[in-house]
Amino acid sequence: MSDDIPFDKSFDLAPETVEEVVPGVRRVLADNPSPFTFKGTVSYIVGRGRVAIIDPGPLDEAHIAALLDAVRGETVTHILVTHTHRDHSPAVPRIKAATGAVVLAEGPHRPARPLHVGEAPRLDASNDTDFRPDRSLHDGEVIAGPGWTIEAVATPGHTANHMAFALKEADLLFSGDHVMAWSTPVVAPPDGAMSDYMASLQKLARRSEPVYLPGHGGAVRDAPRFVAHYIRHRQAREASVLHRLAKGEADIPTLVRAIYIGLDPRLVKAAGLSVLAHLEDLVTRGLVVTEGEPSIAGRYRLP
Ligand SMILES: [Zn+2]
Repeated sequence: MSDDIPFDKSFDLAPETVEEVVPGVRRVLADNPSPFTFKGTVSYIVGRGRVAIIDPGPLDEAHIAALLDAVRGETVTHILVTHTHRDHSPAVPRIKAATGAVVLAEGPHRPARPLHVGEAPRLDASNDTDFRPDRSLHDGEVIAGPGWTIEAVATPGHTANHMAFALKEADLLFSGDHVMAWSTPVVAPPDGAMSDYMASLQKLARRSEPVYLPGHGGAVRDAPRFVAHYIRHRQAREASVLHRLAKGEADIPTLVRAIYIGLDPRLVKAAGLSVLAHLEDLVTRGLVVTEGEPSIAGRYRLP
């Protein structure tokens, strides 16, 4: 989408094979590639013997079998979920049933703000609304097993319930869909919120982990610098919206055409929602005005 972030799209893990990515962390790729999931969802296994699984992934028999095979002879004590999109959490009940592990996450799926009159969750087909954790995690909470200590880091924005997980022993962060090496994530109202997303990026910018392991694609290297690029990218996108509106009132399709050059046609709807996310934030800050609540069909102008 943009050439200002130093994206790294190298990632050649074969689906449903187990790979130790750093000592004490294994990963298994689900075979669910798409423009939103890249090569597929990456599930992580932390520790040896008594382990935690992060993001069991989609309800895919081959992936569930591969994950359970990977931990054969071990005890899964915890299942951690970064967020409730259908490529991350629907395998949870099956992995829980097979292992007896306790399921921990920020909470069930919820929109980032109250729905407007007549508004449906935009990408509701992508939401796992059935998900319920056994217990809710709060920001900063620590979960531990033999040889591993994980801190929950609340990172709302991509979804309201998004959490990253910091692994102390390896000095790395499981970043879910919040920060990924291959692309920026979709931030789509009402499930996502740009103001939350930016605040969560600023929160990670204050942390020191040099490596992130995301929910899709390979590791983010030099992570603090990468996060700074992400922040600048969103600020530039916001500036593009304001620049276009300085030329006159516009609707979202017009803004998408002005801002995204050479966009994959499959991503036009998601791009419109990302622009809406910026507009919601700009309207809240009084920098843009519209008739009524910001909506995908609205027209926008400078005050
Ligand atoms: Zn997601």
